[in-house]
Parts: sequence; structure tokens; C-alpha cells
Amino acid sequence: MRHACARGPMEIAKKSDVLIGYAAAVGCPAESCEAGKAGVCQGCPGRELCLQQQGGVDEDQKYINVRMKAIKKKILVLSGKGGVGKSTVAACLGMALAKLNTKVGILDLDICGPSIPKLLAVEGQAVVNSQYGWTPLRSPHSEVKVMSVGCLLGESDSPVVWRGPRKSSLIKQFLKDTFWGRLDYLIFDTPPGTSDEHLTVVKMLLNVKPEGAILVTTPQDVALATIRKEISFCRKMSLNIIGIVGNMASYVCPCCKEESPIFTDDGGVQSLCNEYSIPFLGTVPLDPVLVMCCETGTNVYEQNSIAADTLLDIARTLL
Ligand code: ADP
Repeated sequence: MRHACARGPMEIAKKSDVLIGYAAAVGCPAESCEAGKAGVCQGCPGRELCLQQQGGVDEDQKYINVRMKAIKKKILVLSGKGGVGKSTVAACLGMALAKLNTKVGILDLDICGPSIPKLLAVEGQAVVNSQYGWTPLRSPHSEVKVMSVGCLLGESDSPVVWRGPRKSSLIKQFLKDTFWGRLDYLIFDTPPGTSDEHLTVVKMLLNVKPEGAILVTTPQDVALATIRKEISFCRKMSLNIIGIVGNMASYVCPCCKEESPIFTDDGGVQSLCNEYSIPFLGTVPLDPVLVMCCETGTNVYEQNSIAADTLLDIARTLL
């Protein structure tokens, strides 16, 4: 007896008006489907989706698992809102870990506003596609490997106007095709909030047990309110929270080194950590030397920066 989907995917699509999972639309359990075995499902655009819906393994996920298992620790850097210094913290932590003799890579998942290429001075370098996959770029000053959409775009001024599914598929491709080799740390710099990018990467890393997430915030209420959402997101997704970094809480005078608080309640991050029983990783002061390094793409660890020293301490805590 011939299986219903042996009539062919296009006919079924027309009948049921279902655009995805043609075989599934007629109840084809792809694994056991006789017609599927006979090759009728072969070439069907809905085949992979059917398999996934029925608990089968996503072929790409297998490759991602292999790539990610070569990396000891995978850390996501998250923030509730933009401008709190998430990319700066991600880049400096990467440089600090490299300074502490570990092999580090940074994957910039901020598709629409990538800033990692500038911070790690790889702007203008071209990504080479070798037989092993995309070769990450190497920061000239810190031995950190970098992959970012910013390195794939020809013109840095062109906007990336992409909807969620397209971003998700690029992230999947970054995870699947980047040839990192063996690394001690892979740091994921994510866009602010809890969106497609976050869902995709957390889901893809589920099988390879990421170390967890570092949350970055400034201590004012408007930022702390958004970081609560990040905490809920991490808990919902069973993503471990390594700790919270309070950024730009105070200003250190470059001449006399006196520290002055900027926000009314500079202990807000610490209280939040206590409230949720999350480790407090430290406070990074607002530092003009760090700003200058970010603007010029120089290694902050080659300068005398108080913010960099704090981040080096945080990196030691991670180690
Ligand atoms: P986000 O990734 O959260 O959007 P960025 O890392 O791009 O934020 O940082 C926003 C701006 O703040 C950048 O110009 C950066 O140089 C500056 N910045 C971040 N952290 C510090 C700091 N500790 N001291 C001084 N400037 C900082």
C-alpha cells in the first residue's frame, strides 16, 4: 500500500495549503514513513523540518556540537539595554583572558550593530573561507580570535536590515562554519535584550553545556529594570548566570585617582545580586583611558587603565 505522501509534496501542499512540513501535513512520521524510506520525502523542502518536529536531529546541530566541543568554556555576555558597555566588557575580558595565557575567541552576535571588529582592531580584514570553514580574524594586539558580521560586510556604513529568521540563520552558520580550533574560552557578545539572537544561540548551545552568562549593567534604575528581565530569561532558558558586572558606576580622576560616584545609588548592582543570589563580579569605573582605547582600537592592557585592572581581576575570577 502506498503512503499518502507518495503522491508527492507539491500535490499535498496544494491540498492542505500548508507551506511547511508537507509530509507532516499528512501525518507522515518521517522516521517510520515507508514512502520516506523509499525516497519520496527526499528533496522535499519540508523534510528537515518534519524530522525536527518529530524529535529527529538537526544535521547542522551535529556540526555545531563538534565545533563547540573543541572549546572548553563558552560564555555569553548579555545586557538588558544598549550603551551599558557590554561589548566593551566582552572585548576587554577577552583581552584579559588572553593576557592570562588562555586561548580566546570572541563571536560578535550583534548583527545590526557590530562593534567588536573596531574594539579588537580587525576592521578591514577579510574572512577567509578555508576547507575547514571560516577562519576567524586575529586581533593584531591581543591574540584574540574574532568573528563578526562586521567582518563579512564589504562596506562598514551599510546597514544590516534583516528580520529575525535571517539573523538566526546567520548565527547558526557562524556556529557551524567558523573554524575556531581548540580554544579555552569563546565569548559571545550579544545584542541588548532578549530576542531572536539570544534564543537561537542559547538553543544551539544547549547540548554543549555553556559555562553561562555574564550580565553587564550600569547602576541606574532604568538599566537595572532591564537586567531583571535578563535574569528571568536566563532562568527560563536554564542558562547559568556567572555573575553581574556593574559598569561605569563611578569616575576615577586620571590626575589624582580620586573615585567619585556618578549615579545616586552606586550600590544598586550589589543589592540586585543579593536579591537574586547571583555572584557580583565587580564594578568597572568610567575610565577615559578605556574610552580612548575603544575609539582607537588599541589594547587597553598596554595602557595604564584602572578599568582594565578591574576587568583583569574579573578574568582571574573566571579562571
Ligand atoms: P553596549 O555594547 O552595551 O551597547 P558599548 O560597549 O558599545 O555598549 O559601550 C558604549 C560606550 O561606552 C562606548 O563608547 C564605550 O567606549 C563606553 N564605555 C563602556 N564602558 C566604559 C568604561 N568602563 N569607561 C569608559 N567608557 C566606557
